[in-house]
Amino acid sequence: MARLGVYGGKQYVNDGMDAAIKELNLSEAVIPHYFKASLNIETVSLARGCVAIAIFVNDDASGAVVRELHSIGVRIILCMCAGFNMVSLETAEELGVTVARVPTYSPHAVAEFAVGMLMSLNRKIHRAFNRTRECNFEIEGLLGFDLYQKTVGVLGTGNIGSVFCKIMNGFGCKIIAYDIYHNPELAGLVEYKSLDEVLAESDVLSVFLPLYPSTYHTINEENIFKIKKGAFLVNVSRGGLIDTKALLKALKQDHFAGVALDVYEHESSIFYHDLSSTGVVDDTVMRLLSWPKVIISSHMAFFTVEAVRNIMQTTLTSLMQFLRNEKVENEVRIEVMQAK
Ligand code: NAD
Repeated sequence: MARLGVYGGKQYVNDGMDAAIKELNLSEAVIPHYFKASLNIETVSLARGCVAIAIFVNDDASGAVVRELHSIGVRIILCMCAGFNMVSLETAEELGVTVARVPTYSPHAVAEFAVGMLMSLNRKIHRAFNRTRECNFEIEGLLGFDLYQKTVGVLGTGNIGSVFCKIMNGFGCKIIAYDIYHNPELAGLVEYKSLDEVLAESDVLSVFLPLYPSTYHTINEENIFKIKKGAFLVNVSRGGLIDTKALLKALKQDHFAGVALDVYEHESSIFYHDLSSTGVVDDTVMRLLSWPKVIISSHMAFFTVEAVRNIMQTTLTSLMQFLRNEKVENEVRIEVMQAK
């Protein structure tokens, strides 16, 4: 029986893991231990006796943490997400700790959420909701525009970006994109252009890049004002793709019609926590929230029944491959990062 330490203390994670263990008939093979805490240097020791741990986007598996995990017997780190930037692959490889992730679980969940955020922003649904709750049925200030025939710029046309392109094609938008790889699936639907061209021509700019050293601050102080004035900016990918300082500067200069963020550069101490009683220490996120044309959700674009089920099943499949000494199909290796 392998002991699997599951960090985070979220009921939907624990329930999802229990359900997946049942569905995959692994009750005899895996014993889950659910920890309330997130993973960091102070909570590593909870995993003593576990051969595997399962973590999420905002856990901390940096070098020192991985070293501690190894010293108490953890041999595989299972990221219950696509991103793995919270794990020190260098330390893991040096110590022979396997790292695996869930590369895709529901690109539709994330792409559909991006569309939802865009619709809410453009048509001010979030503001209308608040008004009518207070019996204010005035529509002044809630004017949006048709998406039909507008230009939608997509940075990154991989799994999620390509679904987003197809949905926006259904809205009758013109779609332009920037990606180092031109997705043949999108031939005839998307016109690939340079980054600067996409920034300049898009009425809606949506980011679907992974966070790599090469994509860090793809939107930055130098190019943020190259984005068409009055555009909508949507980021459901990773906070580090956008330099938040540059974004604040552009918002102060009224550069955007709206900004929708499901991710935020410094989200780890904020997202997935209920701070409604304690308040938020991060001034930047509070400044962002002060604009009615900025909407923020807490890294939940993936959060559908289908996606959670896929995440848990893929995580357990990686664990079983590891335990059976088989090739771990979704292992993350350093070469993957270096190739980017
Ligand atoms: P993907 O790997 O399928 O696609 C990424 C695309 O980016 C690829 O087409 C690749 O060619 C392109 N790319 C990579 N490096 C590039 C560079 N330097 N310049 C230009 N193009 C580059 O990724 P995906 O599964 O579509 O995920 C997209 C993003 O969504 C990721 O950041 C992922 O972490 C994020 N995500 C967010 C959530 C959420 O809940 N908010 C859930 C899942 C994934």
